[in-house]
Amino acid sequence: MVKKVAIIGAGPSGILLAHYLLRRGDKYHINIYERRSDPRTISFSKSRTFPISLNERGMTALRQIESLEPAVKAVSVEMTGTLFHQKNGKSRLTPRRKPLVTLDRTNLVIVLLKELTRNYHESRLKIHFDCQCTSVDFAAKTVTFKSISQASTVAEKQDFTIAYDLLIGTDGANSVVRAGFLDTEDFECEQKYYPTDYKSIFLENSKNSHLNLKTDNIHTWRLEDGTLMVALHQADGTMSGAINFPRQNNQIIGHSSADDVLKFFQTNFPEIGHIMTQEEAQAFLNRPIAKILTVRCSHYHQGDSVLIMGDAAHAVSSSIGQGCNAALEDVAVFDHILNEYSDNLADSLKQFTIRRQPDGYALVELGDYAFPTSTGLFIEFILREYIAKTLHRLLPKFFPPSLIDLIFETKVSYSEILNLYQTWISKVKKSNEKLLNT
Ligand SMILES: Cc1cc2nc3c(=O)[nH]c(=O)nc-3n(C[C@H](O)[C@H](O)[C@H](O)COP(=O)(O)OP(=O)(O)OC[C@H]3O[C@@H](n4cnc5c(N)ncnc54)[C@H](O)[C@@H]3O)c2cc1C
Repeated sequence: MVKKVAIIGAGPSGILLAHYLLRRGDKYHINIYERRSDPRTISFSKSRTFPISLNERGMTALRQIESLEPAVKAVSVEMTGTLFHQKNGKSRLTPRRKPLVTLDRTNLVIVLLKELTRNYHESRLKIHFDCQCTSVDFAAKTVTFKSISQASTVAEKQDFTIAYDLLIGTDGANSVVRAGFLDTEDFECEQKYYPTDYKSIFLENSKNSHLNLKTDNIHTWRLEDGTLMVALHQADGTMSGAINFPRQNNQIIGHSSADDVLKFFQTNFPEIGHIMTQEEAQAFLNRPIAKILTVRCSHYHQGDSVLIMGDAAHAVSSSIGQGCNAALEDVAVFDHILNEYSDNLADSLKQFTIRRQPDGYALVELGDYAFPTSTGLFIEFILREYIAKTLHRLLPKFFPPSLIDLIFETKVSYSEILNLYQTWISKVKKSNEKLLNT
């Protein structure tokens, strides 16, 4: 029998999931509901987007659907290393063995959407933009939406309810589908704001050859108070990134004019300050500060008809650049399980929790504590990375890759990585907690 699938959220995981389910033949008819407008036709405010780096985990999941890898790469830039800039103008390059594929989140969504609607007919796939999921009823197997289009008539603005056979919440860190789990037995969920907030940054004029801003490097700057600036080139010749700063010690909040912003960047991140225009400084000033919510929960499914994946299940700090990779990997894992269990939903959904929850849990722990906040521990971290890399190169059978190489360059499961580096993670956790309480 054909299953009616409702996917809530047309982010990277929701759209890739539609690709994978539709590829399974006529078993599934898909309706995707997204609260925002169609990004192919409406251009979004820049405060809502940021660059994403995809490594082997995310790229493997994309690659399994024909045409997605070349389509994504066509709007991406490959990064062969990370350049750590210092205030005195010196820099240190950490090269990568496998380049990272980097692109703007909205561009990733646009590419995935274009390929989806090119490959599948409306008889099996419908995408409903401007529809915000407001509540779920797992017992009745229904979802209620509010139509939020500016152009809607009064009638169109009314709430509407749909029935589903399978409901999948890919609606991000503040998932409404996950909120429905709270009314069920034995569900535990921890939601925390990460102690650093961020603002996106966009620079039109990135091609200034005399500056040390090579196009195939991720550029980072770190201040002693823990403020971290990350900027990288985009395929269209612009540069974008984000500045992350401790909420308790927010240097940005004191800025009251574009000149304050320019002065701040010129002093602390001179390469960026040099190419930042007055317009961008003003836009930066007006852009809202964004918070990062981390989420981990005890299970990802309800019976044989509800599942959450991606950020809805395990939202993680952006510090380790894994949220999207893990979200895309979730989809490939689910597809693999459907193959194994011949699309039996009761078994497949249960297996998804069994196989993926330990990784989701470990992912959030790694995001919180892989990178230390204190400068002293940060120096120890750089040393540990160097020693681990050297030992692994000399005696790979006895020493695992460094923590960062395991996260960024391999597909080793997050739970295995946490297991290997538990001592370091516990040390950072203790130090971070001490810093927060002083
Ligand atoms: C600054 C920053 C940098 C990052 N860098 C990286 C990186 O380099 N690499 C990496 O792997 N990850 C990175 N991430 C994380 C990454 O963006 C997320 O993990 C990823 O987007 C998760 O995809 P998703 O599809 O699960 O959820 P989302 O991308 O959050 O998509 C959820 C979708 O659901 C929609 N939605 C939400 N609520 C509703 C509702 N009630 N009804 C209908 N629709 C709804 C939203 O509008 C959205 O389109 C970064 C995050 C930030 C903030």
